[in-house]
Amino acid sequence: MAETRAPDHPEIREAVARLCAGFPGEYWRALDRDMRYPTEFVQALTEAGYLAVLIPEEYGGSGLGLSAAAAIMEEIQRAGCNGAACHAQMYVMGTVLRHGSEDQKRRYLPKVATGELRLQAFGVTEPTSGTDTTSLRTTARREGDAYIVRGQKIWTSRAEHSDLMLLLARTTPLDQVAKKTDGLSVFLVDMQAALGHGLTIRPIRTMMNHATTEIFMDDLRVPAENLVGEEGRGFRYILSGMNAERILIAGECIGDAKWFIDKAASYAKERAVFGRPIGQNQGIQFPIARAYANMRAAELMVREAVRLYEAGQNPGAEANMAKMLAADASNEAANVCIQTHGGFGFAEEYDIERKFRETRLYQVAPISTNLILAYLAEHVLGMPRSY
Ligand SMILES: Cc1cc2nc3c(=O)[nH]c(=O)nc-3n(C[C@H](O)[C@H](O)[C@H](O)COP(=O)(O)OP(=O)(O)OC[C@H]3O[C@@H](n4cnc5c(N)ncnc54)[C@H](O)[C@@H]3O)c2cc1C
Repeated sequence: MAETRAPDHPEIREAVARLCAGFPGEYWRALDRDMRYPTEFVQALTEAGYLAVLIPEEYGGSGLGLSAAAAIMEEIQRAGCNGAACHAQMYVMGTVLRHGSEDQKRRYLPKVATGELRLQAFGVTEPTSGTDTTSLRTTARREGDAYIVRGQKIWTSRAEHSDLMLLLARTTPLDQVAKKTDGLSVFLVDMQAALGHGLTIRPIRTMMNHATTEIFMDDLRVPAENLVGEEGRGFRYILSGMNAERILIAGECIGDAKWFIDKAASYAKERAVFGRPIGQNQGIQFPIARAYANMRAAELMVREAVRLYEAGQNPGAEANMAKMLAADASNEAANVCIQTHGGFGFAEEYDIERKFRETRLYQVAPISTNLILAYLAEHVLGMPRSY
């Protein structure tokens, strides 16, 4: 299915595909069995500079646009690898870049660019508040030259594989703010210093190998100089990074969809039952063709979101639609791929069941489909807020 390689950034796409060829299905299957982190893969991507493409050159990155980053993520997934292990290293730093002090940028970004510092943990979701982020209960209370943090986060992915975590906590109680979105602040937490000194990390086993955790903060001391931007404005800072996150994950879903469609079409041509290839039956052909059409439509929306983003606009609607349509396309393609393979779709050695489990996540995280539909209904179509 070579013709579906998108035309932008051809050299980057080919180079990423070459790198990924060194990490075949057996590599991912072995990790999956033991729920191990793909350290070697992440190291290779880091050394090649791919995780630093969004960091400006003055801070040691390559200063490329979101289209390059999305192309990298797409090609990783298209090759059957799993970028979820490290995608956040690309974009979590955006909050520091946009809202951090010059001192923070100089201190952290060049080391994030080389991989010396892994800034890929993002502590927002909590067990009780869920999607209702502004109701979160983690508090950070100023005491002299530090903040004392108490609370709990859940689904803090890669916390065990990060040197720094971007943490959202309430600094002004809910009953003392004019708006629920006020009074939240963002901090950079030094994970090594914090572990055992107020921070506990507990891994969560999930249906796919995702290195996700729950974390507990019990009088964790965070130096006041680690506050990012102004106290109380953290929710806006987190929101400002969401378009990039959604677009990059949409790119990953497009890559997944291409991988599934490629597998399904190839198998349909080869597998002969009743004396002819199964792909000669329209009952097999049409679902694959439909998945392909839906993937291409979603890909156009991803490109539109990237175009607006790179033009300096705020493509909230397009980023959300890109994420939803691309996640739907990858989910549909995953289903079709399993169905086309019959019983073999369930065998580990085909990698389909693994990728099927991995891509399912994007119906829920980092934002679930319902919340995207609610956003469109309210902010684009002007209907009343439903929550
Ligand atoms: C593997 C994994 C990794 C993750 N990594 C991170 C991470 O690194 N950092 C982080 O902060 N978070 C992370 N998350 C959290 C993720 O962003 C949330 O799971 C997601 O936003 C949904 O929130 P929730 O699980 O609390 O669901 P809930 O908010 O409890 O919602 C449950 C269901 O109800 C629906 N729902 C809720 N409210 C409404 C409404 N008003 N209208 C219609 N439907 C509604 C939701 O769509 C969802 O389907 C991760 C999650 C997973 C599973």
